[in-house]
Amino acid sequence: SGSIGLDLGNASSVIAIARNRGIDVIVNEVSNRSTPSLVGFGPKARALGESAKTQEISNLKNTVGSLKRLLGRQYNDPEVQDESRFIGAPLVEVPGGGVGVKVRYQGNEQVFTATQLVAMYLTKMKQTVQEETKSTVADVVISVPLWHTDAQRRALIDAAHIAGLNPVRIINEVTAAAVSYGVFKTDLTEEPKKVAFVDVGHSSFSVSIASVQKGELKILGSASDRKFGGREIDYALVNHFAQEFKENFKIDIFANPKAFSRVLTAVERLKKVLSANAQAPINIESVMDDKDVRGMLKREEYEELIAPLIARMEPTIKAALDQANISLDDIATVEVIGGTSRIPAVKEKLSEFFNKPLSFTLNQDEAIARGCAFVCAMHSPTMRVRPFKYEDITQYSVDYFWDPVEGEDENELQVFPAGNVLPSTKIVTLYRKEDFSVQAKYTSELPGGVLPWIGQWTIKGVKADGDEPAMVKLRFRADYSGIYTVENAYIAEEQIVEEPVEQSAEENDKEKAKDGETGKVKKVKKIVKKAELSIIHGTTALESSVKEKYIELENQMAMEDKHVADTENRKNALEEYIYDMRGKLDDLYSEFASDEEKSKMHDMLNAAEEWLYDEGEDASKAQYIAKHEELLSVGNIIKGRYLEKQEAERRAKEEEERK
Ligand code: ATP
Ligand code: MG
Repeated sequence: SGSIGLDLGNASSVIAIARNRGIDVIVNEVSNRSTPSLVGFGPKARALGESAKTQEISNLKNTVGSLKRLLGRQYNDPEVQDESRFIGAPLVEVPGGGVGVKVRYQGNEQVFTATQLVAMYLTKMKQTVQEETKSTVADVVISVPLWHTDAQRRALIDAAHIAGLNPVRIINEVTAAAVSYGVFKTDLTEEPKKVAFVDVGHSSFSVSIASVQKGELKILGSASDRKFGGREIDYALVNHFAQEFKENFKIDIFANPKAFSRVLTAVERLKKVLSANAQAPINIESVMDDKDVRGMLKREEYEELIAPLIARMEPTIKAALDQANISLDDIATVEVIGGTSRIPAVKEKLSEFFNKPLSFTLNQDEAIARGCAFVCAMHSPTMRVRPFKYEDITQYSVDYFWDPVEGEDENELQVFPAGNVLPSTKIVTLYRKEDFSVQAKYTSELPGGVLPWIGQWTIKGVKADGDEPAMVKLRFRADYSGIYTVENAYIAEEQIVEEPVEQSAEENDKEKAKDGETGKVKKVKKIVKKAELSIIHGTTALESSVKEKYIELENQMAMEDKHVADTENRKNALEEYIYDMRGKLDDLYSEFASDEEKSKMHDMLNAAEEWLYDEGEDASKAQYIAKHEELLSVGNIIKGRYLEKQEAERRAKEEEERK
């Protein structure tokens, strides 16, 4: 089938597929190259992606966005609370302190966790791929903002599992775009050049400084501003117009969620118009209290309004340069992606800061998804991709610590400092007489209220060697996806082993000549593995019993969605048949039915139509099929006569031509 890459955006998501002939973007059911990252709930089914967007404003309280910003976070996190500015559905605390939403679905109030919400959306993404490839999908690479922690990444992995996907790797968004650049840019040489990759998205702003050469990429430094992006610009515009509408129309849109949401949609449109025009109008009918509002914004005033937001890009870029430990002058190219980079003022500011023209060689909306698909293909045993290496770094430092024992001074160690290369492995030796546990935690400042705790690993099977503690070797790992583990643990022992003595070739030859032997051996002390130890993992990932339950629930909801969609299709087919047949009876089929037949058919069609608007409004799939077949049983006789005549005419014509 192919290898899938998914750019899970805050506004919209893009799916790419790597096939043997190259990488394509997969379009959704309405042929869009990106899909709104929204999940909605209805009286019968869920609305996912495009359909959630369509009904967003009429179903605000049951529509959820900000999916990736809720994922893996705590309800009482101030940043999560702040998200409610942009989310129609009420946020609630779920068992364990995480965040979820309370919505009305299938006639009941129901709570879903952020992980479940992301899983729902991923189910939709999976279906979009399956529609296109006509085969099942499993392996996928999904991108996350570079500021996502272990807990957020693990939650995404759980969500993918719930949706029946196998996330072979989680990758930082900007890194994925940089991979796209490294792989597809044809003029790279063996000489490394420094490229700044800048992503100005909907909800956040990120910069990574990379060293790029032919076939290879290293991220040297990164930084992001989690609160600068297109939606903050929209919010500033809403504030501006809220003020104006208050003065001119005496309404407070902040007091009315629906009005707020409609203005938010309208200002986003206005913002896009202002990217290409000197001024733009805003016009909303009956926004609230039956009042129509209108307004206008000039480019100058707009730029003044958003200047404080745009100014925030500079410190973030500086932080990335600092981490990379290079100066502005070393940057050869500034590659820009993300929807918000379409704003002229954003481009100007970036260009001014870097002191060079910007480069837009990447597809600014699709580069991340394409990079993800390429990385997925790298993992696939059946795909052949050109060789490419990439190396990322971590944003936060991670310490491992363990139960202290007497005589040990340190029981905590910074194993992976901020800026550490991903993936990395480090081996630490501890002396223990019995089972013990190791924990890991972040020691850098984390976003909002993200918890620093990463996990606990209990090492089992440790035995003292008489009075002496055993030498336990622990292998700590930060993997490609930015996830921390204790990969393995074993008991090691010092042994005396015989080793060939290293000597020069000349000496070797002399030895051989002397006594006909091949070299000498010496006795050396060596640390060797004696016994593997077992590890019990405890992390922020879902417990398997809970995950199983969520998988079952997700499958059930997906089946119900499908059933509801099938029923709707059957209903539409019946309705269409009624109108189509009614028209044809008096036209195309007129000469093929007696008056009596025609009037009987009309009666049946009328009755079916009435039924549809009455009790048939909300009938079962089987009922729609039965009603449709009832009509066909008469209608097909008439249609059959028509087709027969057509066929006879066609044959006669053929006969004619043969003569
Ligand atoms: P994020 O990266 O923050 O998770 P995302 O990937 O979904 O979000 P993008 O698709 O990069 O975000 O960008 C979407 C943003 O770009 C929206 O805020 C949208 O309004 C804005 N945008 C798109 N086109 C234009 C335009 N022509 N002018 C101004 N803004 C635009
Ligand atoms: Mg994005």
